Amino acid sequence: MQCAATLLQDIFGFDAFRPGQGEIVETVAAGNNTLAIMPTGGGKSLCYQLPALMRDGVTVVISPLIALMRDQVRALRAVGVNAGALTSGNTEEETQAVWDALESGQLKLLYIAPERLAAGSALGMLRRIGVSLIAVDEAHCVSQWGHDFRPDYLRIGDLRRALDVPLAAFTATADAETRDEIIEKLFDGEPPEIFLKGFDRPNIRLAFTAKSSPRQQILEFAAAREGQSGIVYCGTRAKTQTLAQALRDAGHSTCAYHGGMEAELRREVEARFAQEDGLIVVATVAFGMGVDKPDIRWVAHADLPKSIEAYYQEIGRAGRDGAPADTLTLFGADDIRLRRSQIDEGLAPPERRSADHARLNALLGLAEAQGCRRCTLLSYFGENAEPCGNCDTCQTPPEVFDGTQDVRKALSAMLRTDEYFGAGHLIDILCGTLTDKVRARGHDQLPTFGVGKETDKRTWQGVFRQMMGHDLVRPDPSRHGALRMTDKAVPILKDKEKITLRRDTLVTKSRRPVAKA
Ligand code: ADP
Ligand code: ZN
Repeated sequence: MQCAATLLQDIFGFDAFRPGQGEIVETVAAGNNTLAIMPTGGGKSLCYQLPALMRDGVTVVISPLIALMRDQVRALRAVGVNAGALTSGNTEEETQAVWDALESGQLKLLYIAPERLAAGSALGMLRRIGVSLIAVDEAHCVSQWGHDFRPDYLRIGDLRRALDVPLAAFTATADAETRDEIIEKLFDGEPPEIFLKGFDRPNIRLAFTAKSSPRQQILEFAAAREGQSGIVYCGTRAKTQTLAQALRDAGHSTCAYHGGMEAELRREVEARFAQEDGLIVVATVAFGMGVDKPDIRWVAHADLPKSIEAYYQEIGRAGRDGAPADTLTLFGADDIRLRRSQIDEGLAPPERRSADHARLNALLGLAEAQGCRRCTLLSYFGENAEPCGNCDTCQTPPEVFDGTQDVRKALSAMLRTDEYFGAGHLIDILCGTLTDKVRARGHDQLPTFGVGKETDKRTWQGVFRQMMGHDLVRPDPSRHGALRMTDKAVPILKDKEKITLRRDTLVTKSRRPVAKA
């Protein structure tokens, strides 16, 4: 077998492996079933391209992205590797050329779209050509609970069994549930060799800010990055349009992008973004897989993403060229409520739902982090790190204070009103505000009425948001807006544990009134 390091140099012209690549290449080339979890831009393709060259026979690469397959085939051919693709975009000549190369035993990598596996003739064809390895790109597409689910991916397990060859699966999605699903569906539950590597992207600056006037906050962020390519992620399709207009009005060249737009229009935006300098795309998460622009200089979240993985994937689109890139994620109590209710109202089974809450919690923990954000982020993925110096909390250590008594007051107001109300009404009780609702319910008679009046309402909103962020309270899915205490809050309520809050994110200029239960 040819040496991996020599091929890396001679064929691809790279001096050294990126973190993790070397081990993964050795493992795959040796014929082991492998699952490699690497961040976007981490260099996954090499991890199957090199083994393909090291092994006899053909490596079949399954990928959901036709454009990306074609790019890879072109790039491989340019360095003298015999690769071909069978996709719906082929001309007849291209397809014939692939067949000829296969017949003559010259082809080393055959890229095929998952839809191809559905054709009855596919298996027979793959049996004939002497496949020695199956590589699956974007393996999380087997996950029915993910955004990128591709039903045809469910055929890959059968293919592996029928061909009886090793399989190497690659994904940037790091959560345990998706990993388990990949193992179940692609490897029949037999654990492969698993690698999780290279999640640190030191050139990407991390920052979170509590939402005050989100449009203004995004406009300011964009204004400071005039002329740079960037993405703004929004929670809704409607918002992509309004925010894109606001950015356009401010003089930025901007496009909106979401899944409800005509396919042709979407492709147009993708193409413009790839080619132009300094275009801003305001998008939903539909703008994602397949965005392959190395010099995206910034990514902003106008709304909180749904999980720590989603956050990581989305900011990870910035700075793939290794040059400094900037990010900003806005978050507020409304975001947390929205994300919680999306999980509770979703169709996922209960175990999946509690896992989704946990993934959201991890992101909220990151949003309210008091230490280095990169350390918090990487420890979630199982990597250790030193404080990075390239995140907002490293650069401006947040002011914190002992929030135990405030939190206890808030919890007590919740419990005395049977966990039946949302933050707005609870804050009225804490501040001793005599609203109609307070009077009608007799809540001015509660011992907690007015116990928090030395603190203003906005600050209380911040306390409630941080309590949500620490998962001490959650909206009750069966009672719209009502907050319920979680088990985590019990030791604080009983004064057995203390809680530190951030002071700097407490007071935010809110334009919107406090949400009512
Ligand atoms: P992804 O993991 O997102 O599929 P790619 O495989 O497309 O990433 O790799 C991202 C970029 O990094 C590509 O431009 C690739 O050529 C480059 N790259 C990969 N491995 C190395 C390496 N060992 N040294 C230098 N550049 C590399
Ligand atoms: Zn840091």
